[in-house]
Amino acid sequence: MIDLDLGTVILMIFISSILQLVVLCVFACFAKEYRGLFTYSLGMFIFFLGYLGIFINNTILSRNPNFTWFIVLNNCLMVGSILFYGLGMCKFLKTRFYYTKWILFFVIFGIGQFYLTYEINSYFLRNVLISLFSITIYMFMMINLVQTKAEGFRAVADGLIIVLIVIILFFGFRIFALLSEYTQSPSEYTQSPIDPTLANRVGFLVVFILEFLRNLFFVLMVINKMYFDLKKSSKTDFLTQLLNRRALTDLIQNFIKKKDKSFSVILLDIDHFKKINDTYGHDVGDLVLKQVADLLQSQMNPPDLLGRWGGEEFLIFCPEYSRDILSQRLENLRSQVEMMVIHTPQGVIHCTISLGIASTVMGYDNFEELLKSADLALYRAKKNGRNRFEWGHFFSDNYPI
Ligand code: GH3
Ligand code: MG
Ligand code: MG
Repeated sequence: MIDLDLGTVILMIFISSILQLVVLCVFACFAKEYRGLFTYSLGMFIFFLGYLGIFINNTILSRNPNFTWFIVLNNCLMVGSILFYGLGMCKFLKTRFYYTKWILFFVIFGIGQFYLTYEINSYFLRNVLISLFSITIYMFMMINLVQTKAEGFRAVADGLIIVLIVIILFFGFRIFALLSEYTQSPSEYTQSPIDPTLANRVGFLVVFILEFLRNLFFVLMVINKMYFDLKKSSKTDFLTQLLNRRALTDLIQNFIKKKDKSFSVILLDIDHFKKINDTYGHDVGDLVLKQVADLLQSQMNPPDLLGRWGGEEFLIFCPEYSRDILSQRLENLRSQVEMMVIHTPQGVIHCTISLGIASTVMGYDNFEELLKSADLALYRAKKNGRNRFEWGHFFSDNYPI
């Protein structure tokens, strides 16, 4: 094994913690809209203070007995930092953090450290306690990560879970090493963290390598979530939360490319929407759009696709339906919207929609042509009195294209 002076290792950890703290703080500033990052960075700052303390205690103060309180303080900072990582993670994952229980937990730890330092003066017991409390907090973080849905960042969250498991195992191994070394010669057991015992080496290894990995995976998890949210928002219409035109077109093109199913395109437009805007204002208009979108969404069955095509116009893409079923669905949509009661700050509003549909057979791949046909059908529905649907092209196996 490389014989590294543990005093130097402490200095390395101290320097590395400063660098990691800087990176975390800069990252937290860039990703302000994500909660928990500053709290997590605060954990890193407390960790940095703790290691600064350990470094000073073992160099400048040379473990001066007048400064025994320094040991208690440093150990509390160490465990406190892990608590802040846990709190930061909970905030980011939007899971619950039991403040009172964890504060009580920390107070018990502090009293324990105080007792084991002043009354018993046992390095062995103090460090067993630190490991046990650290394992508990890491377990809590791990359970939180396992239980969270982690939509869009599951893989990285799983990576972080593995890192946490390894940390827990190493802490467990540290307890084992402390116990086995202590039982060999209890009276002569070390009182110093820089004595090159196996337990101390394992302890610093956990801190130097695994804490770095934990921070790295935490940052990766946030980046993954940012990427997921960005991708989602680029595909979503802000007002209605439906697919936007670009995303819908991409999905349809991908579907059509396979040429293995027939499909229909439905264009749907709210009637006299301008009048709603002019009478009740733009905000109420927005509310109507949202409610119509929600209702349409509730009527979709996979693999139907629904999106906002523009202004007050929606597009539904549905594969493999017979003409009869499609007619029934359109009539159903029309009547559901007609019956819908829209509660607005200015009272109850009703609205209607007009629909145009065009349908094709398997193997047909001219979406633009079908769209045009649905648009002409919609135009006819408007011309024929609104609140109705009209058919455009209907290509079936009996009607070759
Ligand atoms: P028709 O029955 O022929 O469809 O008449 P219309 O009034 O619904 O159609 P028109 O195209 O004349 O007006 C559509 C209006 O929709 C005009 C535009 O200001 C409004 N609009 C488009 N997007 C939004 C939006 O996001 N919010 C609100 N409140 N209004 C919108
Ligand atoms: Mg309209
Ligand atoms: Mg329109």
